[in-house]
Amino acid sequence: ERLIGKAEEAEFRLKDYNRAAELYRLALNGAKENNTRADLLMRIARVSIRAENFSQALEAFRSVSEKYNQSRLPGGLPGGLASRLELIGLTIRTGDTVGAIEMTHNLYKDLLASVWTLNKSQFNLARKKIESDAANMSSFFAGGDISAISKIDRLSQEADSLISRTDFLLELSNLLSAVVLDLKRDHLDNINLNSRRIIEDNNHRYLLLLAGGAEHTNSDIICFGALIDDDVLLNTVISNIVNSLPLGENHSLIISNDVGERLYGEPPPDESRLTATRGFEGSFPSWMIELHQVDLRFFEQILSSRRSIYVYALVIVMIALTLGAIMTARIMSRELELARLKSDFVSTVSHEFRSPLTSIRQLSEMLQSGRVQSEERRNHYYDVILEQSERLSLMVSNILDLVRIDEKRFRLNREYVRVEELLGAIITRASQMVGDKEAPVRLCIADSLPAIMIDPDAITLVMNNLIDNAIKYSGESMEVTVKAFHDDNDLFITVKDNGIGIPKNETEKVFERFYRRGDELTRRVKGSGLGLSLVRELVGAHGGTVNVVSEVNKGSLFTIRLPLTKDESNKNG
Ligand code: ADP
Repeated sequence: ERLIGKAEEAEFRLKDYNRAAELYRLALNGAKENNTRADLLMRIARVSIRAENFSQALEAFRSVSEKYNQSRLPGGLPGGLASRLELIGLTIRTGDTVGAIEMTHNLYKDLLASVWTLNKSQFNLARKKIESDAANMSSFFAGGDISAISKIDRLSQEADSLISRTDFLLELSNLLSAVVLDLKRDHLDNINLNSRRIIEDNNHRYLLLLAGGAEHTNSDIICFGALIDDDVLLNTVISNIVNSLPLGENHSLIISNDVGERLYGEPPPDESRLTATRGFEGSFPSWMIELHQVDLRFFEQILSSRRSIYVYALVIVMIALTLGAIMTARIMSRELELARLKSDFVSTVSHEFRSPLTSIRQLSEMLQSGRVQSEERRNHYYDVILEQSERLSLMVSNILDLVRIDEKRFRLNREYVRVEELLGAIITRASQMVGDKEAPVRLCIADSLPAIMIDPDAITLVMNNLIDNAIKYSGESMEVTVKAFHDDNDLFITVKDNGIGIPKNETEKVFERFYRRGDELTRRVKGSGLGLSLVRELVGAHGGTVNVVSEVNKGSLFTIRLPLTKDESNKNG
């Protein structure tokens, strides 16, 4: 230090640079520390330049740059950087411009390659010095070889980007410390690397920050920060994913930022519509994914209508099947019923025919053989034979008429008939049939019945059936009354008995074909179940109606109504 003091005195007060150089060199010999040695060598070079001893200065700078590259000089600059900056100036001074440019280029490269750790102002200082030297030198080269200079220009651009990267890193470190503070405020006991957030910086760049730490709160928190390169993320990473998606031709996928600018994807066609949007999650910028679809409404309609056609068709087929099944079942049961009715009919009718025929045959045999002595008895047998044959012919007429009606061959043979005469004849025959055993069938007729256009055979058959039933279903207390009367419009004929009657719920059924009631008397009495149905058909053919009012065990009242024409109602008045 004493020697340095003396050297400084020689340098600055006495301005004896050779003496100063000597003293600095003596001090160098005793100096141990690299930083001090580098400093002393720099001083030797400086005073040597003042003394115009350039070779000694060069030597001193070189040895600093070679031996004390990383040593720090009192100003803080590394020895290598400071000495090489000085060397360039010295080389220019010695007139070796080409060498100086070479040195400048190399120094700039080393500076950018971060050979030394510098703070921002040190870096800027060195860069400024290099660039101003280069600018000075370029004037020497005006019009000459400028390739060396342009190399330096390129390095200058590199320096710019290095500076901005450095600025960004500095900014990032600030942001990281803010995030760490944030996390600590959140009282996260166990901070792990899942604590992440995405931050948009002032230049609209996205930073992904990750923070983590050990189990204990007092341990260090480690933070990572990454600048998201939009270009790489969108056009490489996301693009690869989107291309691997099974998107149809009419779909397009777009990624846009939070102000709606499209960042990725072709603009969607006008007729498309936005069908889905979704934000990125987690460690991604606040972008939106939009799925656009070319409007398919027309096709959708076709599709949906086709679908509904299938549904309707299915429903119709099912209804048709169900109806078919029901109808088949009904037809089958009707067929079965018909078959049963037919066989019932055949057996009933043959039975019905057999018994009267048998009695007719037996009685006629007896009469023929002359074995019946008493006149009275013979007469009785004749009555019975008459009754039985009447019944047979009634039955045959019933069946034949019904068959004709069924085959639509039936025709009324209308003629003017005097009702009281027709009824009188019918009742007489009926009374004969009943014979002498009970009271005869009574007939009450209004005084003046009109002559009426009817088929006498048909109405006779109707009356025979009704009177026959009245007799058959009266039991012991037989009392049958036939009445006939008329008003302006209709002629009424009623047949009343005091017999077994018909329950209310069966008064319509008795007019059905083959219907026979199931009570005791009906079962005993012979019949085919055809009579009343024929009555209804024949009266209907005349444009009239038949109905019954009845009470069980009290009797029945059958009423036939036959409409009168104006002509008829006037006749006989
Ligand atoms: P059938 O007399 O041959 O059995 P009908 O068609 O003439 O056939 O009558 C149908 C059914 O109506 C009869 O089986 C009987 O049960 C009932 N019926 C008909 N007339 C009378 C009546 N006057 N009184 C009670 N029941 C009757």
